Amino acid sequence: MREDACVGCGQRQLNSPAEGKVIRVASAGERKKMNNGEVAAVLADIARLLELEGDDAFRIRAYRKAAQSVEDLDGDVNEYYREGRLREIPGVGESIARAVAELVSTGRSGTHEALKKEAPPELSAVIEVPGIGRRTALKVHKALGATTIEEFRRAARSHRIRKVRGLGERTEQNILASIDRHLARQEEVRVPIDRARAVARDLMGYLSGCEGLARADVVGSLRRWKALVADVNVLAAADDPEAVVDCFCRSPLCRTVRERDGRHARVTTRHRIDATLDVARPEDYGFHMVWATGSREHLDGLCERAKGRGVRLGEGGYVVEATGERRPFATEPELYAALGLEYVPPELREGAGEVTAARQGTLPGLIEPGDIRGDLHVHTAWSDGSGTIQEMAMAARAMGYEYLAVCDHSRSLHIAHGLSVERLRDQMTEIDEVNDTLEGFTVLKGSEVDILADGSLDLPDDVLADLDIVVGSVHTQMRQEADVITRRVLRALENDYLTVLAHPTARILGGREPMALDMDRTIAAAREHGKVLEVNAYPDRLDLSDAHVRKAMDAGAMIAIDTDAHSAAELCFMEYGVHNARRGWATKARTLNTLSCDALREFLDRR
Ligand SMILES: [Zn+2]
Ligand SMILES: [Zn+2]
Repeated sequence: MREDACVGCGQRQLNSPAEGKVIRVASAGERKKMNNGEVAAVLADIARLLELEGDDAFRIRAYRKAAQSVEDLDGDVNEYYREGRLREIPGVGESIARAVAELVSTGRSGTHEALKKEAPPELSAVIEVPGIGRRTALKVHKALGATTIEEFRRAARSHRIRKVRGLGERTEQNILASIDRHLARQEEVRVPIDRARAVARDLMGYLSGCEGLARADVVGSLRRWKALVADVNVLAAADDPEAVVDCFCRSPLCRTVRERDGRHARVTTRHRIDATLDVARPEDYGFHMVWATGSREHLDGLCERAKGRGVRLGEGGYVVEATGERRPFATEPELYAALGLEYVPPELREGAGEVTAARQGTLPGLIEPGDIRGDLHVHTAWSDGSGTIQEMAMAARAMGYEYLAVCDHSRSLHIAHGLSVERLRDQMTEIDEVNDTLEGFTVLKGSEVDILADGSLDLPDDVLADLDIVVGSVHTQMRQEADVITRRVLRALENDYLTVLAHPTARILGGREPMALDMDRTIAAAREHGKVLEVNAYPDRLDLSDAHVRKAMDAGAMIAIDTDAHSAAELCFMEYGVHNARRGWATKARTLNTLSCDALREFLDRR
């Protein structure tokens, strides 16, 4: 898969493989013009702060309405200002027009600044903690200067809140309990990787316009491609960290600032996902990349390794024990090399044996997105997809693929317009016709055949025999007991015509628990019968999971990374599948759809 190939959904790598990409540096003195969204964000923030202060409800509504109008505006708000037409924007009266004029001409708003001084944005995060309340928060803030959730917690723990006029011991205990509950709940919130990546993309786009920024990279669990992530973490390099932190906190994407200091900030974005920014010095950027990427278990492994070499590794950097000398690392590979280790790709940094392997030089040669030569499981408008066969084929070819297997649903899956035998035969005819028009690209005839409750397949053998590839899946009676469902899937794996077992556990992240399938037995059977286990790349499936891919690799089984795309745009989900497979140490040699079309045909003909 070529990296620039996903025309349909505009996916791009956020970071380059080993090191971050350098992004545009704004030239000194260049002030970025505020766009509609940014002006709207300030107006909305004024409304929020007025509300905090308990201001007149009419005034609050006016700002909120104006913010909405500016956001929905067809033209550029700067044009409206230049032409003296600000009052023409619905909901913009005299005083708001003045505020907007000030914003677009100077980039600041006196009203906004004054309000922020009264009630800093961090305070909103405190007020949002259920059980604290606006009035109490303001009282504590004014009396003790506490602003962030952490400061409120400290104030409560050191019994300073009970001494504030009008508050007492009970209020103090309430605040503490509310904060603890709130933080515990936040720990549990995880979002699917595609949503987090969309936020990261917007954030990186915005940051690239921040003055003085030398580079920025997505780090944390998102860089490790975990299926579910808690927040978006960004690392930046700049000589003036404070200016970049300031720019980050002023992003229209940011709803509330939760913490900030000269080098770090945590905000809650408008998408309700938290985002953090850390700013490092360029000469020690590599160390911070490793540190901010994690995981904790991986870092523990590195610290252990460092200790054995007389080096103290920690928050404070890389310090040689004997001399106390602190060594900076501009790039990640330099740090790994200093520890006598091979470079460890981010997806492997989970404390699952990668440090030992890096020391022994036995890290796997991981599959790369560019190794993928085709997609073996997609749907068309013949069943529940939206594209025609031709459209899907053209999109796949534009991605640099050699083949695409059309696997629409089989007859018993009525809910997804499963194909009757007759319609399946009609579809095969259409595939022949499409193939006649394509050069250097092959559409394979396939079917996503339902594995029925007893483990038999939903199509008779003579029909299966006419297909190029058969993908089998469980879509019904998924709550069968472990032994029943395992025997059901094992029976399907014994069918000579089945090649791929699709989305093996049928899990939906955040939606449906995995089936009780015994994965060890399933993997062993797949290996025994020469069957292939799918890594379904749909971002809320990622099934096989990373842990199951690792088991499959350890057992010597084959995988196929397929998107299960229901439209041409979804072919781009491939990257989620590839990176998820990399988390399971998957190699190119054990991934079916890295084969050339001829080699694939040979493999399929062997059944
Ligand atoms: Zn399916
Ligand atoms: Zn499917």
